[in-house]
Amino acid sequence: MMPTWLLGFIISALLHITSVGSVTNSQPCGRGFPALPFLLHAAVPFRFLKCHTGSQHSSGAPAPRSKFAVPRAHVARARHDQMHASRSHLPAPGDADALLRLVAACRAPAHLPSLRAAHARLLSLLHPSHPSAAPARVKLIQAYASCFALPAARAVLESSCSLDRAAAAATVCFNVLIRALTAASLHRDALRLFASMRPRGPACFPDHYTYPLALKSCAATKDLLLGLQIHSAVARLGLDANRYVAHSAISMYARCGRPEDAYRVFEGMQHRDVVSWNAMISGFSRAGLFERAVEVFKEFVALQCSVPDAGTMASILPAMGSAKAEDILFVTKAFDEMQFKELISWNAMLAIYANNRYHVKAVELFLRMEKDGVEPDSVTLATVLPPCGELSAFSVGKRIHEIIKRKRMLPNSILENALMDMYASCGCLKDAREVFDSMSSRDVISWTSIVSAYGKHGHGREAVDLFEKMLGQGLEPDSIAFVAILAACSHSGLLDVGKRYFDSMTCRYHITPKAEHYTCMVDLLGRAACISEAYDFIRTMPIEPNERVWGALLQACRIHSNMDIGLVAADSLFRLVPEQTGYYVLLSNMYARAGRWADVTLVRSVMADKGIKKLPGASIVELGDRVHTFHIGDRCHPQSEMIYQKLDELLQKIRGMGYNPEVEATLHDIEEEDKEGHLSVHSEKLAIAFLLINTSPGTPIRVTMNLRICGDCHLAAKLISTITSREIILKDANRIHHIVQGACSCGDYW
Ligand SMILES: [Zn+2]
Ligand SMILES: [Zn+2]
Repeated sequence: MMPTWLLGFIISALLHITSVGSVTNSQPCGRGFPALPFLLHAAVPFRFLKCHTGSQHSSGAPAPRSKFAVPRAHVARARHDQMHASRSHLPAPGDADALLRLVAACRAPAHLPSLRAAHARLLSLLHPSHPSAAPARVKLIQAYASCFALPAARAVLESSCSLDRAAAAATVCFNVLIRALTAASLHRDALRLFASMRPRGPACFPDHYTYPLALKSCAATKDLLLGLQIHSAVARLGLDANRYVAHSAISMYARCGRPEDAYRVFEGMQHRDVVSWNAMISGFSRAGLFERAVEVFKEFVALQCSVPDAGTMASILPAMGSAKAEDILFVTKAFDEMQFKELISWNAMLAIYANNRYHVKAVELFLRMEKDGVEPDSVTLATVLPPCGELSAFSVGKRIHEIIKRKRMLPNSILENALMDMYASCGCLKDAREVFDSMSSRDVISWTSIVSAYGKHGHGREAVDLFEKMLGQGLEPDSIAFVAILAACSHSGLLDVGKRYFDSMTCRYHITPKAEHYTCMVDLLGRAACISEAYDFIRTMPIEPNERVWGALLQACRIHSNMDIGLVAADSLFRLVPEQTGYYVLLSNMYARAGRWADVTLVRSVMADKGIKKLPGASIVELGDRVHTFHIGDRCHPQSEMIYQKLDELLQKIRGMGYNPEVEATLHDIEEEDKEGHLSVHSEKLAIAFLLINTSPGTPIRVTMNLRICGDCHLAAKLISTITSREIILKDANRIHHIVQGACSCGDYW
């Protein structure tokens, strides 16, 4: 599953891009206000002051002094610059058009001196009543805003207020500056400037360009009251039929927690375009009404009046967290039918797959992007790395690392942490460690990733050393870091160390244990054969034990053949998750192991009665750029014949080394049919044989399984690693088995 820190990052990245990209740009930029990429940074180093006309938002506190409030000084500065700039690269004096082109080209703080000089010349060149003077002021405001010089922009605005007397003449200037402020996330400032417009008279009245901006700022500051006031003012003016106004009203209501009001506005719209639908989908998504969001999405696609775009994809993404298969299929279809796919759409589709554990689909989509020549960005790569790890798709993961290096995307802790997780998940502890060692700064997430990597590989001691090193650096472990270290202890059977960490978590760090921590503790105790202690632990838990906690106990009971407590655990599980196959199989395996065949039959008939289908065991391997999936007894693969031949040959050889399919091994977690004879065709064995045929000697064999590996396959894999001199890295549902020359990193403790 994609870690939450990564999921949050991806969603916010995509939503951010669309809210300033597709959604905003589709609003009228008719007055020529350009995109201001630098203003997208929230940390724009200026603050705009409460303006002198006041507003309903003044907090009563005295306004801080601001450069923004001294417009006259800037006019003087411009005049001063005029005297000094004559020998610079400015156009010939008298060429107002060239000067205006220069002004329009000023886009960064570095351009500020040229801008000031050009401004000064324009002042002398264009009399305020000259027909070009008003458009020049608009251009100047835009340029000053682009150069972070908001006080100067404000100064020009003030001059426009006093000069442009005609109705709504100064409004354009206000709109330009308010837009710059909203783009810079200075929403309060934008609202203050908005509030100052009307009192200045008809020349400064807000118009249908101003209202959407103001509503947007209300949405961002979650100011429902002001939003309502503005919306009703808009209705009185008859502007509410305006599409752009309606879109902003929809977002405002949705973000202020009034999704039904948003829907009313949406329904009342006479003409809807793709932006209207996006606004409503995103409104429901943001309000957490995911089903409604999907409904609107479907309605939109069904209408076929316009096609979904990148904004649609980004809007639906948050609603697709754990989506129904049919909904994912629906979105996939809509995505495939998009003629022009922007990067945002690809990223959103990738994230939908990744969040819903469609790992193969996610990696395939990424490969398709590469084939289509779509340049990935850091969001793409961070999204596809976890699925690569889940599938042990090492070569794709490695290639992504190369792309990251080539595009010089590092240092970037999100990518580095994702890389570490991917390598660890592919069984490449060494590569994970290299990424970790090369990081310029490491946060708790980075340390947690490396601790968890060592833990999953069964290197509990190293995990503990790393965890201690993190503490030594003064970093405060969080709840997830403790899950990592407790799991590491449990995988390596470090009972006392694990108990100590659990105590320190509560006593020293005051972290309230969650179900994950309890699961680790039950696992730790259970594997160490302290079954009764584990059971007592569950009974004294302050929170209701969930499925995983009981599941860990049942697993321990199976390993240590504790029938009494095992039955208690199974009973709780059947009440909690009556349809979950795995636990019935576990229980029937326990009975079988105890020779209670009548009970085995009973459990199986219960399963049959309830119509419970078993989760099919599957093994996945990567070869070249393809992911191959094998099921038990699979004969669908084109190389099937060769695979079975190879397997026969291998089993012959290892029989000579003492391999003998045991009775117990027939109690695989997956299938009942394979009690005898079918052992040789467990999916993991097929996958190993397939890779042995298709890779050159010495290449490590990486197999990912959806269930826990069975004892028989574990033994067979160890022996095969000896006779073929191959490293075998088997990732099962629980951990990683790194097998080298007949020895597994799990120490046969799993
Ligand atoms: Zn098996
Ligand atoms: Zn193992």
